[in-house]
Amino acid sequence: MDTDHAADHEAPSRVEETAVALLLRSPHLEVGQIMELMDIGDREFRVMASRNGDIAQRLEERRLGTLRPIKSEPRRCKSCREWFVPYGHDRFCSDACKRTARFAQCRKR
Ligand SMILES: [Zn+2]
Repeated sequence: MDTDHAADHEAPSRVEETAVALLLRSPHLEVGQIMELMDIGDREFRVMASRNGDIAQRLEERRLGTLRPIKSEPRRCKSCREWFVPYGHDRFCSDACKRTARFAQCRKR
């Protein structure tokens, strides 16, 4: 049981992996910067890359210089703090987050 727990702790979450794969598509972010943004260590990053095909592919594309730039830079949702690729000037990843933020603002007044 204990070993399972330890594995859980060391394994990066799916959400993190998705965010890393997303950030790797940005030509303006170095791998080191991404690791800093996501608070990931060398080892964790390697685990992610070996487990997640998307991340491995992005790294390979970066190495070969075939990375296709995305239309807009990944941005961090103001509400749930998750990374997403915005359409236009969206500050939130979803309508749900937009609503959450609106309610939160109302409460402050
Ligand atoms: Zn959000």
